[in-house]
Amino acid sequence: MLQAILSELEPHQAQLVAVSKKKSNAAILELHAQGQRVFGENYVQELVEKQAALPPDIEWHFIGHLQTNKVKFIAPFVTMIHSVDSVKMLQEIDKQASKYKKVINTLLQFHIATEETKYGLDQDTALELLSNPVLNQFRNLRICGVMGMATFTNDMQQVRQEFKNLKQIFDFVKNQHFKNDDFFNTISMGMSDDYRIALEEGSTMIRIGSLLFGKRV
Ligand SMILES: *Cc1c(COP(=O)(O)O)cnc(C)c1O
Repeated sequence: MLQAILSELEPHQAQLVAVSKKKSNAAILELHAQGQRVFGENYVQELVEKQAALPPDIEWHFIGHLQTNKVKFIAPFVTMIHSVDSVKMLQEIDKQASKYKKVINTLLQFHIATEETKYGLDQDTALELLSNPVLNQFRNLRICGVMGMATFTNDMQQVRQEFKNLKQIFDFVKNQHFKNDDFFNTISMGMSDDYRIALEEGSTMIRIGSLLFGKRV
């Protein structure tokens, strides 16, 4: 399954995040043995435990909702945080990353779905956030792009429209704030049920769980 997904990503030059939440270390090691190095987790405690037990060459991405007081637990090892939606969160990430003299990559999470419960920014709030002068002081984080989750629905036209919307937001934000920054290049969108649509709409990073590991119970 891993190879099949990777060959679908290749023409799009998109990266695969293997979403291993609620999956065993053994299952992760199995994919690791097949060459996968980037894994995504949603829960701080679970991630901390897995990171300590699993090979050090794994690049861990945090993709779930994050509380500022938990950043310190993942800062020592995390390479990317997909779920940033406030200046307060950016400040905390920068502060914790500076303790380890490292740079943490971040994505701004946008609310593109119709459901009320999904976190994230809208375009106006993001522009406000990005024009906050405090951002100029950050030395230990990089804002590398955007992340979003489509509505949980069978209406694939709606899903497509939401991905189009996120791509437009990316282009706009890039143009306004990151025009000459090559590192602002990531659109994290697409999961097991909708990654093909996401790729067609410009995704550069897909987050796949159940298709790789089997359904979560
Ligand atoms: C669980 C999760 C995924 C993976 O979902 P699947 O449908 O199992 O592929 C991707 N992104 C986020 C943010 C998730 O929480």
